Amino acid sequence: MADRYKPMRPPAPLPGADLPVVVIAGRPNVGKSTLFNRLVGRRQALVADTPGVTRDRKEGVALVRGRHVRLIDTAGLEEAAPDSLYGRMRASSESAVHEADLVLFCIDARAGITPADEHFAQWIRRQNRPVLLLANKAEGRQGTASALEAYALGLGEPVALSAEHGEGLTDLMWEIAERLPQPVSGGQDDEDEQDNPDAEADERPAGPLRVAIVGRPNAGKSTLLNTLLGEERMITGPEPGLTRDSIAVTLHDGDDTFEIVDTAGLRKKARIDETLEKMSVSASIEALKMAEVAVLVLDATLGVQEQDLQIARLIEREGRACVLALNKWDAVEDRAATRKAILDRLSISLAQMRGVPVVTFSALTGVAVHKLLPAVRDAWTVWNARVPTGELNRWFEDMLERHQPPLVDGKRLKLRYITQVKARPPTFVVFGTRAEQMPDDYKRYLVNGLREAFDLPGVPIRLQTRGTK
Ligand code: GDP
Ligand code: GDP
Repeated sequence: MADRYKPMRPPAPLPGADLPVVVIAGRPNVGKSTLFNRLVGRRQALVADTPGVTRDRKEGVALVRGRHVRLIDTAGLEEAAPDSLYGRMRASSESAVHEADLVLFCIDARAGITPADEHFAQWIRRQNRPVLLLANKAEGRQGTASALEAYALGLGEPVALSAEHGEGLTDLMWEIAERLPQPVSGGQDDEDEQDNPDAEADERPAGPLRVAIVGRPNAGKSTLLNTLLGEERMITGPEPGLTRDSIAVTLHDGDDTFEIVDTAGLRKKARIDETLEKMSVSASIEALKMAEVAVLVLDATLGVQEQDLQIARLIEREGRACVLALNKWDAVEDRAATRKAILDRLSISLAQMRGVPVVTFSALTGVAVHKLLPAVRDAWTVWNARVPTGELNRWFEDMLERHQPPLVDGKRLKLRYITQVKARPPTFVVFGTRAEQMPDDYKRYLVNGLREAFDLPGVPIRLQTRGTK
């Protein structure tokens, strides 16, 4: 029994162990300390003075996707240093940044980009350390405008989050984990890599793949979860990012580990239908925030209902990979027609669902349920895809030739190049003169083209534009 609860947490690090160093930097008041406390949490006990550093620094150990990192907060150090604001920030951050494996550069998304941010960003860029840009105080989707503005800092795509409200932390964990140096590996890891030809392309850090099971009440979500669990039930948590009402259930399929975010809505049943309706949407939102892949469960005997579309739109909005699960397949009579009707309806209502991977099964009898997890794994891989810039721009030129960019106010848009700024979901930025004026139908043309040319079915593709002079 005891070993069933084992694998989620690696052992505590030895004192002085060689952990990757992550430094939180930024001007005062953007929320560095709040973020530090959020990430270090109860592990604060491990805070230690570092010999050789004149001032005490705030330092702790945080757990990021199953790996321990040394987290250093540069806040508060500012006040101790003399001179101007810039000088203070620089002096206090310098030593920390120099030893950083990754710098988390924070801005306040509600305040927008200030001259102090610009100045500090410029300095950070010159330090040649990997940097992840964080747009904090972005609770409830605030500060989207300054998140875009933040591109101008030249530090890549900002990760929007709210340290205070605990939003966006799962994405943050992923973005951090992706940028950490590879752990020093022994012989065994090398062998593993040979077994897995994708090991190099697949930057996925260790840790389970997070799945949300969403759908209307009575679609069969609980039944599916129980069937998937079978004997294997293991409850973990609470983990960072999980709310009080949700637990994570771990499943294994071959070498892959999946963590299914089991929200209150999945486990408990409300008595009144009205509450049930409401709960399924709010539980879906909650589960989606924590997941990488969403399994959208449909009752195939009923076809696509408005609430199914509503949940599908949520998946798109949250930028998650999606697998469509057509459940109750045992009770469907004309299977081919049912499948076609459902897929047609979905792709008409939601362009981003085009080509979404579909599995059909019976959660009740268990027939074909085994197809689900491999499909989840595949969808996850697509969601993580990165298209090389050269290839992308050859495709782009071709697209521009086939349909030249439209006129806006009598002047033709001059689109220059495209680059993928991040994965999960695949996110692209098109640069060009007045590119930000690109009409929606031309955007759709490019997004559909991207999906087809680079084989990205069923994942939400983000396309942003940035004007250049
Ligand atoms: P630091 O100087 O960069 O370490 O900033 P602090 O962590 O001390 O935060 C500065 C102020 O911003 C405090 O009043 C925090 O409560 C507030 N704050 C931090 N994170 C958030 C957030 O995500 N949203 C909002 N609205 N306020 C935040
Ligand atoms: P949830 O509200 O989405 O969690 O749905 P439940 O798992 O509670 O299932 C709702 C109803 O559908 C229950 O009566 C289940 O027995 C039934 N059900 C679930 N899966 C299947 C299936 O694959 N085939 C059939 N025929 N019924 C199913």
